[in-house]
Amino acid sequence: MSDTSLTAMNTLGVPSKARRVHLIEKIDDLKRLAARFRANGPVVLGGGSNVVLAETIEQPVCLIRNRGIGVTRNGSAVEVTVAAGENWHNLVRWSLANGLAGLENLALIPGCVGAAPVQNIGAYGVELEGLFQRLLALDVQAGELLVLNRDDCKFAYRSSVFKLHPGRFIIAEVTLILQPGGTEVNTTYPDVAVELERLGVVRPDPVRVAEAVIRVRRRKLPDPRWVPNVGSFFKNPILSQERFDSMKIEHRALNGYSDPAGIKVAAAELIDLCGCKELRSGGLQVWPRQPLVLINPEHQSGAEVLAFAERIRVAVLQRFGVRLEIEPDIVGL
Ligand code: NAP
Repeated sequence: MSDTSLTAMNTLGVPSKARRVHLIEKIDDLKRLAARFRANGPVVLGGGSNVVLAETIEQPVCLIRNRGIGVTRNGSAVEVTVAAGENWHNLVRWSLANGLAGLENLALIPGCVGAAPVQNIGAYGVELEGLFQRLLALDVQAGELLVLNRDDCKFAYRSSVFKLHPGRFIIAEVTLILQPGGTEVNTTYPDVAVELERLGVVRPDPVRVAEAVIRVRRRKLPDPRWVPNVGSFFKNPILSQERFDSMKIEHRALNGYSDPAGIKVAAAELIDLCGCKELRSGGLQVWPRQPLVLINPEHQSGAEVLAFAERIRVAVLQRFGVRLEIEPDIVGL
């Protein structure tokens, strides 16, 4: 069997090929392949918007392409069960078009629905876990389909059981709870509040909040369709109060946000303060409007992207003693 190119299937645009690819178009495909996956755990690829791939992937690659949205009433709320292969932003648009509130702050996040629980996607004060009901996944080790509820998923800041046990589960569908006719919105983040003001919106509803979020994101972030990238390349570090206080002595303008685990700081600010905001090397660049994002317009390899990221990590480590963690999954490198 010939290799399959994954170059157009990863938004970072790194040249990559897989030895063997399995297409998942329905849940029965997962059942059929369970024994094979149990013997040889696959790499799971949805939208390919949060991965750095090696040039050759030797493991089988499982492409999640199932579709469909089902709706059930649950008291005054609505349960929406969505196939893992649906595009996330299309789901947000569908929910708003159907008068369902809850997902508006999560507009324009790239990737597919199955990837959303993996890192407990969140934006502008709303996290997936707050809307999450349950999901259906193949337990690769056990070779069977399981239902995981919110506790089973162990959600935390950009983390979950799926991050803690990579390769253990393949998510098949996700059920969320949304509010029909909901009007309560979260506009606590300054970027959203300022954008609503610019739009002249006095009483924001979910549709207007989504509009504001989309405008902010479009302005700040490169569109992966034209500029290869995987969104945030680094996680925002959470520091102890002491470390944050000592950094503030030298950098008085540094922002910190209180978090159950300490003080969260924006990795983008640290990268900027290290002078790496306009860093370029061999076709790779930091995106100056949001230095958390690395762009790869010349389709450098995954290894070259990681070497470039390491230069930034070293600069931040030397300057602040903070080791930035890489956010996308690194596959085969
Ligand atoms: P930003 O608005 O520049 O904020 C940078 C950092 O400051 C983020 O860590 C954010 O926390 C924090 N922050 C800002 N205002 C805050 C407030 N009022 N209360 C608490 N924390 C605050 O962030 P950005 O990089 O442009 O991203 C915009 C949003 O998209 C952020 O919410 C970010 O987390 C989210 N995002 C999510 C993913 C993902 O799910 N993988 C990837 C990229 C960006 P939070 O991170 O807690 O919001």
